[in-house]
Amino acid sequence: MLNKKIVALFLLAAMSITALTGCNSGEEETEASTSEATTTTEATTTTEATTTTSAAPTKTAEEYKADGINELNSVPILMYHRIYDMKNSDTEYTGGNVDKDGYNRTAEAFEADLRSYYQMGYRMMRLTDFVDGRIDVAYGYSPVILTFDDGIRDVVLQGWNEDGSPKFDPSCAIGILEKIKAEFPDYNVTATFFVNSSLFENGEENDRKVMKWMVDNGYDIGNHTRDHKKLGDCDAAEIETQVGAIYKKLEDIIPGQYVNIVALPFGSPESMPAEKPQYQKIFDGTYDGFTYHTRASLLCGWTRAYSPFVREYNYTCIRRIRGYDNNGEDCDIKQNFDQLNNGKRYISDGNPDTIVFPASDNSSGDWLKNTFDHQVISY
Ligand SMILES: [Zn+2]
Repeated sequence: MLNKKIVALFLLAAMSITALTGCNSGEEETEASTSEATTTTEATTTTEATTTTSAAPTKTAEEYKADGINELNSVPILMYHRIYDMKNSDTEYTGGNVDKDGYNRTAEAFEADLRSYYQMGYRMMRLTDFVDGRIDVAYGYSPVILTFDDGIRDVVLQGWNEDGSPKFDPSCAIGILEKIKAEFPDYNVTATFFVNSSLFENGEENDRKVMKWMVDNGYDIGNHTRDHKKLGDCDAAEIETQVGAIYKKLEDIIPGQYVNIVALPFGSPESMPAEKPQYQKIFDGTYDGFTYHTRASLLCGWTRAYSPFVREYNYTCIRRIRGYDNNGEDCDIKQNFDQLNNGKRYISDGNPDTIVFPASDNSSGDWLKNTFDHQVISY
């Protein structure tokens, strides 16, 4: 009895600590509390078989443990907007923020962000693979996903090379990404750019050409709605227009090569309750004779995303981290990565077809929920 009380108290303490430190805007974070419950349920959870496919690296439970392999933990999906040709010292705001709220970033800070994620052991992967539950990151490394909204100052074209490749402004997002790609081949540089009807603002003809180049060179393009409207305030017909018009345009420019993912303008709506059936038009609809299907939608900020394998993962409201500085407070980059690096980060077993995690993290029995038909290995 006494023992139970102690465990209950400990759990409560763990949960309140998480509530205080988590960038979660009131949503309860269950990662910490489930992992703290280890000792009470070990006997039942360790009976799960630990087998590997022939493709899986041969690792023992001790090795997984020593390397912290955990594919039920969280993934940082960064949300950036415009990248400006500025040094941090050129702005009057904190760190690399170009505006008060840090939605736009200096080129200096953005490049430093990319170097920092790499040094911390993160490697990039495509957002669309994350939605597919296919996380292909080398053993012992963690995934990081980059997204850009609005299309402005992300892909700034300076002209075309003789071989037909684009010449980018070296200080725009893709200019810096290409520089980092050349420097770190094992970083797997990639990003998803979410556009409105104005695309990247290089002129329609240039943008059509540059978008073809992008999808052929490891970048993805997704849907940020036609006019950047708050979909939470729109009726069904308007949502269908806003979402469908961009899909139709993308289908025309890069047929079958865009991602069926919507970054919700202003992160609205934040949830898809049954009493708002119009929100289903974000996911399925027909615009001007073109029928579309959306596979996932993204919120605006504030914290790390749940692993696609766990119970709390919800493809309709995937969370992102706003790429901004605030001295390690209010869910800025530093605070989020400090939390990730302190026991919250997804650490890969190197095989995208298996899900590996400490048995104690699924002691509730239902934290692992979506297996995507992968082999499950608990240790
Ligand atoms: Zn936007």
